[in-house]
Amino acid sequence: MSNAAAPDPLSAIFRRLIANTGPISLMHYMGEANARYYGSKDPLGTGGDFVTAPEISQMFGELIGLWLADMWINAGREEPVHYVELGPGRGTLAADALRAARRYGLEPKVHFVETSQELKDIQLAAIPRAQWHDDLSTVPPYGPILLVANEFLDALPVRQLVMTPDGWRERMVVPEGEKFVCVAGTQPMDAAVPEARRQAEVGTIIETCPGAAATVYEVAGRLVDQGGAALFIDYGHDQVRDGSSLQAVRNHLKVDPFVNPGEADLTAHVDFATLAPIAQSRGCKWLGTVPQGRWLRDLGIEARARTLAETAPQHASAIEAAKERLVGEGQMGLLFKVMGLACPDWHGGVGF
Ligand code: SAH
Repeated sequence: MSNAAAPDPLSAIFRRLIANTGPISLMHYMGEANARYYGSKDPLGTGGDFVTAPEISQMFGELIGLWLADMWINAGREEPVHYVELGPGRGTLAADALRAARRYGLEPKVHFVETSQELKDIQLAAIPRAQWHDDLSTVPPYGPILLVANEFLDALPVRQLVMTPDGWRERMVVPEGEKFVCVAGTQPMDAAVPEARRQAEVGTIIETCPGAAATVYEVAGRLVDQGGAALFIDYGHDQVRDGSSLQAVRNHLKVDPFVNPGEADLTAHVDFATLAPIAQSRGCKWLGTVPQGRWLRDLGIEARARTLAETAPQHASAIEAAKERLVGEGQMGLLFKVMGLACPDWHGGVGF
């Protein structure tokens, strides 16, 4: 290797692994890269790599808190009630949502599903009373669940299948010079492709996210058994489509996902079209999947922005700019979607 700089540790591990055991799947590559990435830094802090909706404005978390309180009140204010957040980042969304919900008498137990120690420390400072979980299995099995996942599903590893002249194959990763590239695997994967999509031109890529499917399956089952409602918010599409949506962001710029794994945030579009029927297959109520901008407007973001601006006129233009970032069609308003789920006995669901 002619690389003069010290090799990136994860890329070195991948190189050794691939040299010993052969190509790794893209899903393996993305999973390890993100585990390393989230485990080693706070990507959202000052000088971080990307900015999420709760970090743009307190209005985002507040409106989510109001939505959850409204659902819980309509369902009869059952206790104990659990606020569960998947991948809570810096704890900002939870802090804003819980503050808003408290005004309506909702003071739930707080459960964070988080794997990054670095982020757990920051979350502890934001919400000292929270309990942490590695996954949903240890969240109590009784009492309604009010669950929020913002930009969580997009970080879970995707599997990609590609059509080759010999049929469907999994996309695998191998080193090439300083970086990595995708190649088609040798194992036939045709059986993994739904029959309706099996005929395709050579080069067609199908992307799926088993982790997102498993998460929604589990959450939907919990909502049916325990009562509750859930919001999954992410960038993605609500119609099935082909192609790779894998991307990497570092320092607020798109970078090559196959250079320096573990140093950039790898994400993929969330396939909401597939997730809704998975939730319904468990008997859960799918409230809908709607653009974030429309949902926030229906919840009253304009009025909330006006109130905030009246309280702090010196920040009026910043508040307006933040609101625009969240709802603007060319910004987060259209690309980001909100998928709502609820226990079939629960009513309402403003914004859907
Ligand atoms: N929801 C926050 C953070 C989004 S970043 C916000 O909107 O600001 C993604 C979050 O998911 C981080 O907290 C990250 O550590 C967490 N995460 C990523 N993969 C995870 C996994 N497999 N299990 C649990 N948490 C994970």
